Amino acid sequence: MLQEVHVGHKSLADYQSVVARNLVEEIRELADSLKGVRVLHVNATSFGGGVAEILYTLVPLMRDIGLDTDWRVIMAPQEFYEATKFMHNALQGNPVGLDEAQKEIYETHNRLAAESLGGGFDFVVVHDPQPLLLRHFAGDQGAKWIWRCHIDTSTPNREVADYLLPFIDHYDASIFSMHQYILEGIECPTRVIVPAIDPLSTKNMALSPEDADYVVNQFGVEPYTPLMLQISRFDPWKDPLGVIDAYRIVKKSFATVRLALVGSMATDDPEGWSFFTRTVEHAGDDSDILILTNLNNVGNLEVNAFQSRADVLIQKSTREGFGLTVSEALWKAKPTIGGNVGGIPVQITDGETGFLVDSVEECADRCMWVLDNPDEAKAMGRAGKEHVRANFLIPRLLRDYLKLFAELREQS
Ligand code: UDP
Repeated sequence: MLQEVHVGHKSLADYQSVVARNLVEEIRELADSLKGVRVLHVNATSFGGGVAEILYTLVPLMRDIGLDTDWRVIMAPQEFYEATKFMHNALQGNPVGLDEAQKEIYETHNRLAAESLGGGFDFVVVHDPQPLLLRHFAGDQGAKWIWRCHIDTSTPNREVADYLLPFIDHYDASIFSMHQYILEGIECPTRVIVPAIDPLSTKNMALSPEDADYVVNQFGVEPYTPLMLQISRFDPWKDPLGVIDAYRIVKKSFATVRLALVGSMATDDPEGWSFFTRTVEHAGDDSDILILTNLNNVGNLEVNAFQSRADVLIQKSTREGFGLTVSEALWKAKPTIGGNVGGIPVQITDGETGFLVDSVEECADRCMWVLDNPDEAKAMGRAGKEHVRANFLIPRLLRDYLKLFAELREQS
């Protein structure tokens, strides 16, 4: 089954003051040639994680510039998401693949979703592996089909990659976030497009220090307390346990430091709860560690407030497709420390716009440097913000999609 996701209204004109003027002009020109085309985005969840985050802005902006755009999510029983989580992990390098029963579940629910697709689309953009087989089961229906991969597929489990490749090759184009993620053996045309954040969403709009303090204080964090923060789903690849270990090292030198781990529970991530429990256990009875989820009322505004208030922002992933949280942190002009993996190094230039780390000790070391050198750290945060402005804001991503649509259209 496919279910429609309803999104609010956004206007490209509002972004004019945030990004370069010629980018907005380029978007308008491209949009002129695509007016009225029907676009469908399909993914696996409307809540939690980076893809939903992007679509809540991209879909209304596409509509605003005249593309008739919809967003639907694939709805299936829990066993489907369990199978696709195995697939997600395998594509990121986990040796455990899918068994025959899981492949059967995966194929069945993609076939059922394809049957409910309906026709009349010019472009169908399928995000990530969960709904990947839609193109196979639906046929082309006169549309151009794009598979958009958001995960780090640089060293995939080969068996799972080889199972998926023939299905990917049915697409007219595929998009990866980094060159090194392009799957070996892929035959359909590939593009590299990095994701982006929405600078005007409630998660990223400017908040005054007083407002940020006020919101964070409601969760028990007093003003002036040094605060380390990681915002992430509870997922082993995001390494919240490593962040706790780094905090424990920092705590030896900065007795008042606190750590907040904020993580939403995505509906397509059945592993989330068990890893959440492991994280809580790892934190033990340390009341200076705050572990919060969307179930504690931590929504976009609260994420913004925590990022705006924290002294050190961390994304200590050990695998990371892109890591929107890094751009979100840099956009708040905050010193940001990221794992030296996946899409994080394109956002953080080590020592200039933040720090890249390979271990718990290095992470702790950089956190202590930030707490010891607030002025230098602030300058780094400001450089990070300009880097995000130039490269990772949503109008640039919109432009890249429009360019691809225009190119694919010319081919027909
Ligand atoms: N996020 C959130 N609340 C949380 C945890 C994460 O809103 O408690 C958001 C986060 O701000 C970011 C997205 O979820 O926009 C995560 O995207 P990212 O690319 O960092 O990682 P993914 O979850 O897609 O692997």
